[in-house]
Amino acid sequence: METSKQAGSDDGGRTASRAEWGRLAGNRDAIEGVIRALGQEKFAPRAARYDEEASFPFENYDDMREAGILAMTVPERHGGLGMEYEAYGLLAAEMGRWCGATALTYNMHACTPLWTGHIADDLDMPAGDRRRHGENRALHFSRIVDDGAIFAQPFSEGSAAAAGKAPFGTLAAKVDGGWLLNGRKIFASLSGAATYYGVLCTEDKPEKSVRDTLFMAVPADAEGVSIVGPWDPVGMRATVSRNLVMEDVFIPDEQMLMPRGVYHQAARRWPHMFLTLCPTYMGIAQAAYDFTVSYLRGEIEGIPVKRRMYPTKQITVAEMWIKLQQAWAIFRQALSEARVDPPKADRLRAYAAQYTVMETANDMCRLAIRTCGGQSMLKSLPLERLYRDSRLGSLMLPWTAELCLDRLGRETLYEPGEADDHA
Ligand SMILES: Cc1cc2nc3c(=O)[nH]c(=O)nc-3n(C[C@H](O)[C@H](O)[C@H](O)COP(=O)(O)OP(=O)(O)OC[C@H]3O[C@@H](n4cnc5c(N)ncnc54)[C@H](O)[C@@H]3O)c2cc1C
Repeated sequence: METSKQAGSDDGGRTASRAEWGRLAGNRDAIEGVIRALGQEKFAPRAARYDEEASFPFENYDDMREAGILAMTVPERHGGLGMEYEAYGLLAAEMGRWCGATALTYNMHACTPLWTGHIADDLDMPAGDRRRHGENRALHFSRIVDDGAIFAQPFSEGSAAAAGKAPFGTLAAKVDGGWLLNGRKIFASLSGAATYYGVLCTEDKPEKSVRDTLFMAVPADAEGVSIVGPWDPVGMRATVSRNLVMEDVFIPDEQMLMPRGVYHQAARRWPHMFLTLCPTYMGIAQAAYDFTVSYLRGEIEGIPVKRRMYPTKQITVAEMWIKLQQAWAIFRQALSEARVDPPKADRLRAYAAQYTVMETANDMCRLAIRTCGGQSMLKSLPLERLYRDSRLGSLMLPWTAELCLDRLGRETLYEPGEADDHA
């Protein structure tokens, strides 16, 4: 959908398009229509260039800002489109069909309002913390709604911290009126593009614990923030995930995205918060299937030869369809089960969903390449990019494919608190 910029408006057309946002607020189907139109008409045609350059899709974000999509997970009472967890997952999968890197980076942005919004509402907080949190998040929501700000989520440090097994090495020391941050994040998607980096760090105390994890919004232009290192990966190249260095960065108290102790509580009690990397890859799996059908039917521009009459190709498409439906089924179910304190079976299913979607996305691309054949590998076509992008889903912490297996194995056999003498 094309929304027009008003002549003379100096806010990127947001004032002009607010009337349009009203139509979208709370309306998942209408939002899906906007995402599909943007994806088909804008994101997909641009994807090869961003991939080749390993550059950030700024134009896609400008389009999303103008259409209100940047405010999709901001609650309606704060001027956003009011999409909560389950709706977000389905909409983000639609975005992933058209450009994986846009959907993956958008996930980092959209999760901050989800986590600080309705997920935080489900968690326990003393009344004073709840009130201050309400004030802080209103400020962050307004930055998205009124200023078109973009949030990133650089958590990874190359240690066991992002896997949830050790405190973050980035430290926040309490000082008058705020915090002093020091540390280094790797794979900071949206580096150089985000307005705020939502950083996980550890409160600097003599005894450091994962319980003391803090979630802070670090302004990109704060003194002491720098982006360093090269970026030339095999896939998801347009995420521009370079390193973020923070040296004595002062962060005022109101930049706290969650009160003390709440991130740790969220990670334990709202485990589906980590499932939000899946939608991108569900979209990639769907895109690989869609491409294969068009290709075998001879509908891809420049390669009009039909291949659909060969039984082996029909069998592969059948196999792909089955895998795709299996992935969609568990993905949809897991999204629908997201809640605070889910029962054990739902938590285990969330791990299984993450594992299934991430591994299936790559498997779908593998099968697509095998059955489409050599010409489908041309860089002018999207399949080889889908293949490269799809491989990286299983590496995303804290729920890598391996760690999902690890958790599933342990948590099916042990109840909390149980241990054996000889483990
Ligand atoms: C394209 C892309 C974009 C990304 N964007 C972001 C982003 O925006 N924000 C962000 O925070 N991160 C991001 N990441 C990083 C990602 O989430 C992982 O943190 C990263 O891939 C881990 O790399 P590593 O080599 O440190 O991995 P690993 O070695 O897999 O993991 C790091 C540590 O975790 C522990 N660990 C790993 N596997 C196991 C296991 N099976 N059992 C026990 N412990 C284990 C170990 O201590 C290990 O040293 C991105 C990654 C990619 C590829």
